[in-house]
Amino acid sequence: MPCKDRDQAREYNKKWYRANVKKRITTIRDWKLRQKALLLEVKSKAGCESCRTHDPSKLRFYHRDLVQAAFDLNQAHDDGVSKARILNEIKICGVWCRRCFSTAHPDDPRASGRMSGRTFQARNRELVKALGMSYGKACNRLRRMVLFNVVRLAN
Ligand SMILES: [Zn+2]
Repeated sequence: MPCKDRDQAREYNKKWYRANVKKRITTIRDWKLRQKALLLEVKSKAGCESCRTHDPSKLRFYHRDLVQAAFDLNQAHDDGVSKARILNEIKICGVWCRRCFSTAHPDDPRASGRMSGRTFQARNRELVKALGMSYGKACNRLRRMVLFNVVRLAN
């Protein structure tokens, strides 16, 4: 239904949403489940690069080069990322289980090993420098990617 008037269009959309809210929620939930299933399938087919486990619940995607990273694949199904963008991002990621990744990359801020707050912060600053952006912009991007919690570091 083409509307010339923006307010009229907004009103129409609101009405449509109210009338179709249940259908809309189901559609979005199904879409998210499909994206998640795709990610789980890719992970379990690939398996951990070190120990070869194929249990998708233990596996995570890690960018091989963080500078190229656009978003965190492990969150992508909840963030409404399209299938095409997911498939592109998979090409620049590797699959590891948490333990193997931490063992193989002990200096990486995404490794889950215990680290003092100061070391953690220093590593984050290094990472931000590598991204070649202002600190604020990089923090926002990294927070979106859930690589680490910058807010927690500030406290
Ligand atoms: Zn492993």
